[in-house]
Amino acid sequence: MQTAGGETVASAGVPATAVLPDAGFVAAMDAAQVGIYLLHNGLFLYVNPFLAEMFGYRADELVGQRGPLDLLLVEPQALCIGERCSGGQPVPLREYSATHKDGSVFPVSMGMAPASPGGCELIVGTVLDLGAQKAAEARIRELADFDALTGLPNRRLLHDRVRQLLAGAERDNSSFALLFFDLDHFKRINDSLGHSVGDELLCAVAHRLAGSVRRIDTLARLGGDEFVLAMPGIPAAAAIDVARRLLEECNTPFTVAGHDLTVTPSIGVAICPQDGRDIETLLRNADAAMYKAKELGRNTFQFYTAEMNTATLERLMMESGLRRAVKQQEFALHYQPLVSLQSGLIIGVEALVRWQHPELGLIMPDRFIHVAEEAGLINALGDWVLCEACRQAQAWIEAGLPPLLMAVNVAPEQFRQGGFVEAVAGALAASGLDPTLLELEVTERTVMHDADSSIGTLTALHRMGVELSLDDFGTGYSSLAYLKRFPVGKLKIDRSFIRDLETDADDRAIASTIVSMGRNLRLTVLAEGVESREQLALLRGMDCDMAQGYLFSRALPAAQITELLRQQPFLHKE
Ligand code: C2E
Ligand code: MG
Ligand code: MG
Repeated sequence: MQTAGGETVASAGVPATAVLPDAGFVAAMDAAQVGIYLLHNGLFLYVNPFLAEMFGYRADELVGQRGPLDLLLVEPQALCIGERCSGGQPVPLREYSATHKDGSVFPVSMGMAPASPGGCELIVGTVLDLGAQKAAEARIRELADFDALTGLPNRRLLHDRVRQLLAGAERDNSSFALLFFDLDHFKRINDSLGHSVGDELLCAVAHRLAGSVRRIDTLARLGGDEFVLAMPGIPAAAAIDVARRLLEECNTPFTVAGHDLTVTPSIGVAICPQDGRDIETLLRNADAAMYKAKELGRNTFQFYTAEMNTATLERLMMESGLRRAVKQQEFALHYQPLVSLQSGLIIGVEALVRWQHPELGLIMPDRFIHVAEEAGLINALGDWVLCEACRQAQAWIEAGLPPLLMAVNVAPEQFRQGGFVEAVAGALAASGLDPTLLELEVTERTVMHDADSSIGTLTALHRMGVELSLDDFGTGYSSLAYLKRFPVGKLKIDRSFIRDLETDADDRAIASTIVSMGRNLRLTVLAEGVESREQLALLRGMDCDMAQGYLFSRALPAAQITELLRQQPFLHKE
């Protein structure tokens, strides 16, 4: 065999008439980063190293062999390429499945064109390995349809599948179930153990639950800790079994990053067609049912009922109303006196927020604080309360009244937000109020949730001189060890223990235990919700320090409190 330059190249099995292009050109093909071959009479005359490596051969193993069809899986379109090319027409790049020497199959694109260097009729072919490109395409498709964290179908794919279920259900008058669930208090895990543990937990939950559903079911993650299970051909009774099974699956703790974590789902069930004939309605109703399950104490399931819609609607109205209210500051603070039981002097007030709704009138905090928390509005609302309470306290001092303790409630979310300490400092600075006159009320649940980081925040506030009290004391799960470490100065015995103080011996035992424990820890103890003289007498007998309740006064607007502060009507006259 000779090159076009006249040199003879020895190649096993190649007819002596075949001539390679000149050495310079061969060197260029040797260096090319695509597969290149020359074909003469259907046999490889030359393959470049890139092509040989792509197929797992040495170049000399291929030269002289039939090519390129022997390297491809036989596909109908593939068969014609040699023929047509020998007719003198270039064959455009096409995709084929190629076989590697080790037997594996990989995608390539191949094109060829006739050439006649030195009068010898050859075919020049190029081969591109499409493996990486195909993998990237598959990944893009996967990202479009699957959740990147858990690998479960995402909202888009869920919508697709539910659309198919809807069409099927309509066609053969069948039904299917949608289970909507999220993980109870998942946020606490994120907050206390960090997002990477939270992410791992989501994956573990996804993995375990995906293993417990049928192959024809679609378990999708909508985002956050929200999941949907779409189940074709499931009557309501069977949906109950599935919901129970999901709850049971979560009974065994998940081991994540060395922690044994228990998370429970709350599940809402909507059945097509009775609870909706389109995906939006079905999802909304399953969501409403899930909220009901949460209200019922979580770790349970609920079927959708039409009444839930009114409740959901109310919640949504409340939420959008609150957004407006925060912007337009439709809130007011009322103040309830905190009375010293020794002297009867009003030594402080608790600021209690009210929403002055333009149409509905005054709305009490129990109706909207939790909505503000869920809607992410509590920080904005809490900041306003803090600033307004400090401003009012300073205004009373400037009006010549004796210094008064201003107690402000702090929501869990607000307490945990980064920058809370700075927000408090800002409110104090803006008002000019002495920090020792501000008392922040947090609940046991707020501080015990992530006790170690709470200690940091509480200590920073304490250093500023701000007073701290534990609100609704006795209803949470305070650990005495922490109680000693928290720099709190006051315990507020929850109203539920005071309500039946005269008749319930257990409540009396609890109240007096809290009072004596408080004394031993050198904490001030205040009784909330004192409504009767009998209750007051019992608390005095226990040596409780302070009280607050309707017996003295309800929470009142600032102007009326100003009067009470001037009159001090509860002072012991004796
Ligand atoms: P809380 O901090 O335990 O406040 C005491 C609640 O008990 C107040 O209800 C008060 O009006 C009520 N109360 C006081 N004395 C008596 C009594 O003798 N009998 C009865 N039955 N109730 C009495 P309110 O104003 O409706 O506030 C309810 C809860 O809303 C508060 O409980 C507090 O947890 C929350 N809250 C109020 N204002 C704010 C605020 O500005 N921020 C936050 N995060 N929460 C607030
Ligand atoms: Mg309070
Ligand atoms: Mg309270």
